[in-house]
Amino acid sequence: MTENAALVLFSGGQDSTVCLAWALDRYQRVETVGFSYGQRHAAELGQRHTLRESLSTLLPHWGERLGPDHMLELPELGRLSDTALTRDAEIELTAAGLPSTFVPSRNLLFFTYAAALAYRRGMCILVGGMCETDYSGYPDCRNETLQALGKAISLGMDADFALVTPLMWIDKAGTWALAEQLGGTPFTELIVEDTHTCYLGIRSRRHTWGYGCGHCPACHLRAKGWEKWQQQKRS
Ligand code: ZN
Repeated sequence: MTENAALVLFSGGQDSTVCLAWALDRYQRVETVGFSYGQRHAAELGQRHTLRESLSTLLPHWGERLGPDHMLELPELGRLSDTALTRDAEIELTAAGLPSTFVPSRNLLFFTYAAALAYRRGMCILVGGMCETDYSGYPDCRNETLQALGKAISLGMDADFALVTPLMWIDKAGTWALAEQLGGTPFTELIVEDTHTCYLGIRSRRHTWGYGCGHCPACHLRAKGWEKWQQQKRS
């Protein structure tokens, strides 16, 4: 197990792309893992290859550090969960007070599978873009959940795993600012152009902040963060 390598949960969305850049900035070797579980926004996964290619040419040391990509199929998760992210259903607030896009157990499974893969690859650092600052209230994005999961994984595999979440305590405007800090304007432009966030998988409508339907919760969060970041830059 090496402290100098990290496996990044990489979906092709804005948050995981910033996390990938963050990891490339810090670790000597970085690999990526993606999950296919029948999500409606599979457009996101289609952007992964493009983004990896672009990131590896953006800064020379990023290209040297970026290792293989892994794609894991979890169709059972899509079949098990009755959510607006995996079915053609309305995106709304459920009786539990959570958006109907919440896929129960998703991040728990993702990290557990990622840990099994990292174990085989000799890595013990797992990086994910979860955030509980301005999020949709998903309980599996909370720091407490992920710290406990990290402990369970470490005990269960008898290895010292760390679940690292660089975006946990910053808001969406902060994520844009971090991206700029890591890779300058070329990187923020790349995020606008090539990362995908929209839950409905729409890439035919272009806004200043990127592509998407413009009205689903994911588009709202992304647009709001962009506006706030623009304001912060002007003031
Ligand atoms: Zn949308």
